[in-house]
Amino acid sequence: MSKKKKPQGVMTNRSVRNPHQRTRPDLLLKEQNYILQISVDDLAFMDKYRVALAAGAARFAEIYYNYLFDHPEISDVLYAHERNGGDISDLVRSELQFMLGIFSGDGAARESELNQVGAKHSARGIRPVWAAGAYRLFLDFLRELIMDLDITFAERNRLESVILKLVLRDLGMMSDGYWCTRLDEYRDEFKQVSAQYECVEELLAGLPHLIWSVDVKRNQVTYANYPLHAIYSNKLESPYPFLADAHAEDQQQLLTVWQEAVNGIGSSTEIRMSLVDGTEHWYRLSLYPSLSRRGRSGQVYCLLEDINTDISERKQLEQLSTTDSLTRLPNRALWGDHMKMALAASRRVPGSQVVVISLDINQFKMYNDTLGRKLGDVLLREVAKRLDSVVRESDSLARLGGDQFGILLQPVNDARTAAERVITQVLDSFDVPFTCADKQLCVSVTLGVSCFPDHGTNEETLLTNAESAMYRAKRNGLPFQFFDPGSDVSPATQLHYSGQIQSALDNNEFELHYQPQVDLVTSSITGAEALLRWRHPTEGTVLPKRIIPVAEQLGMISPITDWVLVTALRQCKDWIYNGSSVPVSVNVSARSFQSPRLVDKIQWALQEAGVGGEQLEIEITEVTLMMDLERAAEVLTRLNDFGVTVAIDDFGTGYSSLTYLKRLPIHTLKIDQSFIMDVAFDKQDIAIVRSIIDLGHNLDYKVVAEGVENSMALDMLNSLGCDAAQGFHISHPLPEEQFSSWLSTSAWSV
Ligand code: C2E
Ligand code: MG
Ligand code: MG
Repeated sequence: MSKKKKPQGVMTNRSVRNPHQRTRPDLLLKEQNYILQISVDDLAFMDKYRVALAAGAARFAEIYYNYLFDHPEISDVLYAHERNGGDISDLVRSELQFMLGIFSGDGAARESELNQVGAKHSARGIRPVWAAGAYRLFLDFLRELIMDLDITFAERNRLESVILKLVLRDLGMMSDGYWCTRLDEYRDEFKQVSAQYECVEELLAGLPHLIWSVDVKRNQVTYANYPLHAIYSNKLESPYPFLADAHAEDQQQLLTVWQEAVNGIGSSTEIRMSLVDGTEHWYRLSLYPSLSRRGRSGQVYCLLEDINTDISERKQLEQLSTTDSLTRLPNRALWGDHMKMALAASRRVPGSQVVVISLDINQFKMYNDTLGRKLGDVLLREVAKRLDSVVRESDSLARLGGDQFGILLQPVNDARTAAERVITQVLDSFDVPFTCADKQLCVSVTLGVSCFPDHGTNEETLLTNAESAMYRAKRNGLPFQFFDPGSDVSPATQLHYSGQIQSALDNNEFELHYQPQVDLVTSSITGAEALLRWRHPTEGTVLPKRIIPVAEQLGMISPITDWVLVTALRQCKDWIYNGSSVPVSVNVSARSFQSPRLVDKIQWALQEAGVGGEQLEIEITEVTLMMDLERAAEVLTRLNDFGVTVAIDDFGTGYSSLTYLKRLPIHTLKIDQSFIMDVAFDKQDIAIVRSIIDLGHNLDYKVVAEGVENSMALDMLNSLGCDAAQGFHISHPLPEEQFSSWLSTSAWSV
């Protein structure tokens, strides 16, 4: 902007006066006299009447007082003057004197006086119209005075005309004082604001950001800081001068945030921009709307900052904190977030379930140790790739650490079916060997599954339970297992019992209860099942479903099995000694069955108790047998060799294939109690039980029904041709002494 030349000299009717420029006082008087045509003659004429007119001033005082106090805008000023310690009477008197001074001959003195009054009025907030009002009253008053003067008509006319000119000059000069004071004030303010503006402008120009403001109504840039000007000076008619450089994919987002800002909602977004060198940079655009009274935005203040370095670092950090560096799969933290979102989505759809799978590479330690860590890493990467190829994109695969992976399935209606589908695909994909450093490696995996909401309602529990199921599957030698609250023990429970089991053995806190088995044809007692109990010092009797899984997971099951075998066989010896030859059944868990020393231990226990093998039956589940059929066959055959019989416990709940039956030396099928409970009236249970009995008899096995709770079930089993029964209806499991007396008093014969 070019500066205007300061106006010089007297303002003439031909020259244009710069209103920002004060006129020199002496020149102003001349100027006023000139414009109002006040001549020296006029002033001399006026002099003749000055005394006569001033004499009537006392009467004007009253009119003037009334005028001042009748108008609140003025009276308020007077009262404020008084409140600030001033004297109202003095102030009014001086104002009156000032009015009457209109007839003084000294124009210059009058001018300076008028200027000061104008300045004072300006400072007090009294607008010039109040002075005009006072002068209007004064003129009326003077006209009356003039009427009383004994002068000619022409003289009266001239006197009135001169007075009018003097009044107008007074008003003009007073307004000038008012206006000049205001001007000075504004000039001072302007100076201050300019200094601040320059400071802010310098600051904004020095910032590396682009800063601008937009008038929303006109949709135009109203301010642009220097860097924005330097780059986009020719595009400032648009709210987004940089729009053409923004990445096409980000433009919609830019429009969205702009619309929000127009509606009065400030926000920010991250966008990419192409730079001159063709590279792309990240920027953050922040919009701050200033609201009009109607809630719409009047101005929008905009800030565009380069966040390329931050964002690259952030994105890198984000990636580091959420990705497994070896496999590039999400890590446990990110997977946890995925799980959280899946659970939230599932909660919104009643009846839907989320599947959480924990997967572990079998024998990975062995590969790592023999191939070396580097090749171990290669193997992990290959496994990740293979898993990635079978997991759907909508589902989530992660490396949870070491050789453990996680698979999360999005909400489904039938969790079991969905899980089995994925598990089958995963297991099938591992049929093909891995090539690692020219070696063909056959790798297998074990999976554990938990489902939301049945097996837990938060991420941690679901993962822990999936892991528990996986460890149980490993122990049982199965490729996968679903979480089972009865079999899988939470880490908290494990921790709770970890130190206590050994001391329970040492302190003789375990005991066996015996439950009889009776022959339904001969009504004789054919055996007794030994069932473990823990007389816990603080928790009372702890049942085996709590003890066995913990002991298995803590690796404490073998000493317990040893103790049960020895105790049960000693008891059996006692019964024989007391004239009741009742064979005893002992449950052998999967882990115990896998123990290479099991047969030796049984043999030793038989010897130690001094009873023959035919006094012992071991109960194992189908799952236990299926873990290693070859080995199972070998163990059972050896046990058979010295007369020990084998019962399949909980028959019907385990494995669906029955081919193992013909390959193993089995003697008894114990039908699981879940089929027996309602067998008296449930047609399906009757059909199942009948089939199992037929199957057992066809294979020459004895068939025993577990969980017989009433006589109706017993009658039904009798009519179905079941060989033997066990259950509360016959007897609850009883401690040793009670069982002995039951033997001697029972209606069932020994
Ligand atoms: P199991 O071998 O199937 O034992 C039968 C279970 O059914 C026992 O539960 C018994 O008390 C219960 N029972 C018997 N008759 C009835 C009845 O009429 N109605 C109902 N509702 N239940 C009946 P318990 O003693 O709690 O044992 C549970 C499981 O723990 C056993 O199932 C067995 O698998 C395991 N177990 C028990 N003792 C030992 C042991 O010494 N070693 C091992 N490894 N497992 C054991
Ligand atoms: Mg049993
Ligand atoms: Mg059973």
